[in-house]
Amino acid sequence: MTLGSGQASTYYGEPYNLVLSMEMVTPAGIISTHDYTSTATGPRILDMLKGSEGVFGVLTELTIKVFRYMPENRQYFGYMFKDWESAVSAVREVCQGQFGLPAVFRLSDAHETDHGFQMYPQPPIVEKLIDMFGYKPKKRCVLMGTVEGEKDFTKMVKSKISKIVGRHGALSIGGSFARNWETDRYETFLVGEAISDYDVIMDTVETPVKWDNIHHIHDAVLAYAHTVPNTLCISHMSHFYPYGSNLYFIFGIKGSVEDYVRYRTALVDAMVKAGGSPSHHHGVGRLMHQWIEGFLGKNEMDVLRTLKNHFDPNNIMNPGSQLGLNLPDELKR
Ligand SMILES: Cc1cc2nc3c(=O)[nH]c(=O)nc-3n(C[C@H](O)[C@H](O)[C@H](O)COP(=O)(O)OP(=O)(O)OC[C@H]3O[C@@H](n4cnc5c(N)ncnc54)[C@H](O)[C@@H]3O)c2cc1C
Repeated sequence: MTLGSGQASTYYGEPYNLVLSMEMVTPAGIISTHDYTSTATGPRILDMLKGSEGVFGVLTELTIKVFRYMPENRQYFGYMFKDWESAVSAVREVCQGQFGLPAVFRLSDAHETDHGFQMYPQPPIVEKLIDMFGYKPKKRCVLMGTVEGEKDFTKMVKSKISKIVGRHGALSIGGSFARNWETDRYETFLVGEAISDYDVIMDTVETPVKWDNIHHIHDAVLAYAHTVPNTLCISHMSHFYPYGSNLYFIFGIKGSVEDYVRYRTALVDAMVKAGGSPSHHHGVGRLMHQWIEGFLGKNEMDVLRTLKNHFDPNNIMNPGSQLGLNLPDELKR
């Protein structure tokens, strides 16, 4: 179990906010947390168990918040901006507007936008008009999403978003991008599998960003990514908060597994060096445990070591995974 984030987390929250209580069977005994709406009797054990990826015990039960399903009220929207900077300023204003948040909210950078137009070409006349209005390839960025919840709320939020993005020079492109994305999103992952027949390996890395470091991290990762031959790297923001978002990089490399590992490692290094975290929602696991101690710091890591020793003194729970406890120093990043 990881600290994941669903695509509609901007409105509904993430498992971290949604999980109210859990039962975990650990070698030290069964841990059952309470499902109070809130409690100041802390520190909260629940918080220490979330995201533990099986290294403390096996999660056997959980209580989770649910929301009423009202697809009939869902509003879809899509906008095109002239450039990344104006798009980022607009989404920041939306997220700090305090009128309510969209559910799906996804801003593609210029590379991902161009890639999207190649995959879903528009009629030539539409392309020409968009270009004529100043929304140029290699610069323009698409924002799309949904608003979910009660009927008047969804209309109000969509209208507020429309006014804000309009002030940042956005052009409405309707709801079809968001509808297509919703329909295709699980199939597009199959592209990654199909393309592996051509010796191309696709994968993703992601990091939380605050509004004051988003451009720095975006530029730093792409500056490295685009210097490596036979690779492709595109990016978007998704999962938004009033104080920032998540930058997601999708990459492909034509080469060997060793080339892929080298490229992926350097991307994560660039992300972390620029002030990011090794992961926003994909967790740690064996793939990322090289970064955990360097990222958290020794004192913080000691807390996790102590918890691990308490729950699992014989190291039988998911050994060698998340915490990287047996990792030699030279492999730590
Ligand atoms: C194509 C793709 C897209 C993705 N998109 C997103 C996304 O949008 N948002 C997002 O958050 N994540 C995303 N992910 C990552 C996804 O969240 C993780 O793959 C997922 O959390 C792993 O859960 P799992 O049960 O599939 O994996 P598993 O490998 O079964 O489990 C993950 C970890 O949890 C441990 N574990 C499993 N069951 C238990 C249990 N009962 N008790 C304790 N520990 C347990 C395992 O030992 C392992 O360490 C994506 C992954 C892929 C492949």
